[in-house]
Amino acid sequence: MGNIKEQKLRKLKKTYTGGSLFALIFLGVVIFATFAATLIVFGVYVVDSKVRDEYDSLERDKEISDLANRDHIVVDHDLNILEEFGDNTCDLKNGGIVDLIGLATTAEEEAREHLKEYHNINIGVELDSPEYSQIIVYPDTQLPVIRPNKRGLMRIDPNMIGPILEMIREKAGHAPMNGKALVNIPYWISVAQTDETDLICKAEFSFSVREVFVIGILSIVIVALTVTLLIFMLVFLIKAISRRKQMNEVFYMDEITENHNWLWFIRSAEEELTRKKNALKKYAVLDIVFVNYRNFCVCHSLKEGNEMLKSIDEKIQKCIKDKNGICAHHSAAHFAAMLQYTDRDDLEKFVKQMVSELEKVNSDHKFNFWVGIDRIGEARDENGKAIKKRTSVDIEKAYNNAGAARSTLSGNESAIAFFDEKMVEEQKWIDTINENQDKALENEEFLVYYQPKYDPRTNKLKGAEALIRWNSPQYGLISPGRFIPLFEENGFITKIDHYMLKHVAQAQKKWLDAGYACVPVSVNVSRAHFIEEDLAEQIRDIVDEAGTPHNLVEIELTESAFFDDKDALIRTIRRLKDYGFTVSMDDFGSGYSSLNSLKEMPLDVLKLDAEFFRHGDPDGRGQIVVSEAIRLAKKLDMQTVAEGVEVKDQVDFLAEEGCDMIQGFYFAKPMPGDEYEQKLSEG
Ligand code: C2E
Ligand code: MG
Ligand code: MG
Repeated sequence: MGNIKEQKLRKLKKTYTGGSLFALIFLGVVIFATFAATLIVFGVYVVDSKVRDEYDSLERDKEISDLANRDHIVVDHDLNILEEFGDNTCDLKNGGIVDLIGLATTAEEEAREHLKEYHNINIGVELDSPEYSQIIVYPDTQLPVIRPNKRGLMRIDPNMIGPILEMIREKAGHAPMNGKALVNIPYWISVAQTDETDLICKAEFSFSVREVFVIGILSIVIVALTVTLLIFMLVFLIKAISRRKQMNEVFYMDEITENHNWLWFIRSAEEELTRKKNALKKYAVLDIVFVNYRNFCVCHSLKEGNEMLKSIDEKIQKCIKDKNGICAHHSAAHFAAMLQYTDRDDLEKFVKQMVSELEKVNSDHKFNFWVGIDRIGEARDENGKAIKKRTSVDIEKAYNNAGAARSTLSGNESAIAFFDEKMVEEQKWIDTINENQDKALENEEFLVYYQPKYDPRTNKLKGAEALIRWNSPQYGLISPGRFIPLFEENGFITKIDHYMLKHVAQAQKKWLDAGYACVPVSVNVSRAHFIEEDLAEQIRDIVDEAGTPHNLVEIELTESAFFDDKDALIRTIRRLKDYGFTVSMDDFGSGYSSLNSLKEMPLDVLKLDAEFFRHGDPDGRGQIVVSEAIRLAKKLDMQTVAEGVEVKDQVDFLAEEGCDMIQGFYFAKPMPGDEYEQKLSEG
């Protein structure tokens, strides 16, 4: 979907959720890591410092007789007990103390196996690390003995803290040595006494009430902090999700209908069309216009107009529901809809039915609707083979096509129109014309052709009509039917009429000066020109500039011009006649001819439309109309010209009825200026 707003929303949503999720995970990890690290550091620090204290006091006390108060044994390096005191439970006779120091040189794995095999003890011991203290486990007591490392530092391998604490917990029932402590956990500690002997003395981890209190508070604070932060993040995430939902609702809501808007339509239509299961379904995209919207707002109020749009939106939704349709308010009086269909006739019937429902949306009024329809066929490749799914869908283009079809509609009735490729060609042509018209005029690409008018009784040249042709370097010779209606629409026609009048006046002057028997040449003047108050003066000035006598120029007005401001038209005709120009009514009888206009307009010539002579006249009714029209014109003192006469019978009939001139292929087709000049020169 080529919609910038939509793309921006998608990006925003991605960063919005993605960002908050990332932040949440990151914060969670940081908090957890901080918590765990704090506990580990704290635990290691506490255990290390306690052991250190014990060791230091033993080092200090080993020579002192006070030591005798502690359970201890003194061993030589062969682990023979040299001295023994107190209620110690180190039974060195049955298996004795495991000489882990001796094993220190063997591989760690071997040491572990040794412990397991001979002493049924599962414990990881870092034996040969110079960095950490050694931990020796005596199988009978299963209390650990901690020996400082080679550098004399008391640092326990963090991996060992778990097993040590585990054992400590098991032996927690031992008689406390420190009566004041809240928690006393016994273990053994080994200190080199002399070079030959080691002192293995009973020690204990003891925690005072204050220490337990501080540790407890610290742990509670850390846990509370972690939990608070996690709750905060959870709330933040829930809020972000709900805000995203609200954002979606606002973004895709139409503020008039309070229902879906155009962006929602694009997104939903694309989703629907690109679903695999819909690949072989056919869709129609509709541009529905509430024709009376502006008038309704003017006559009532904008608020009521918008209320009406809301009701229309609801009605459309209801109508297309069974066709798996979606719809949205596009802009002003326009609605977009998309629905499934099976064949064109059914679709047409359905849309007509929907329109008749919409017409009844308000019980007080009968509204009109125009509907343009573009169709999206099954998903197929260039060779017509069915493919799995539609990959590229341009829903905006389809809606635009539907709009192009709808723009061909006019009038005061509801109507529907289908888009087809001819419309694309037509639009391209309109663009070409719009782009090239000015340059073409500048380059004199417009040519004046002349179609002679003959007296049917004498076959003499009595006049001619100037007809435009466009000699385009790109498209060749183009007939006026292809571009005059477009010029009339875009206003360029006034320039063309001036151009033609100027060229005709100049040519007439040239031929007059050449001594030819010139006849009046009529020039078509579009109705768009007649809104100009000084049209008669403009025409007079152009002809005067060429120096052409006014009686050699005739002005043709098309019948449709007579529907505009009648008084202004009559004034212009009068002034033209005052200046000596002949004025004729072109295409009389082609449309809604009003005999009234004949009565009111002081015209000189009535040109009977070619339609009278086009399809034959089997029952003779056409002849009656033509002969009566000629009679009427004569009575009103007007000359008659019959256009589009191609066969001799028609010429004879018109001659008999007293028609003054014939302009038709029977006598001559429109011809270039030099050919017409040739005719003039032949007399
Ligand atoms: P129009 O003014 O009614 O011109 C008569 C049209 O009928 C001319 O078509 C002419 O070629 C055609 N015609 C004449 N006799 C016969 C016949 O026997 N058989 C057939 N089949 N056609 C015949 P053309 O030249 O294509 O012009 C079409 C229309 O374009 C004109 O209708 C006129 O309304 C407009 N037009 C042409 N040139 C100009 C111009 O310079 N200015 C303006 N405003 N309109 C022009
Ligand atoms: Mg004409
Ligand atoms: Mg005509």
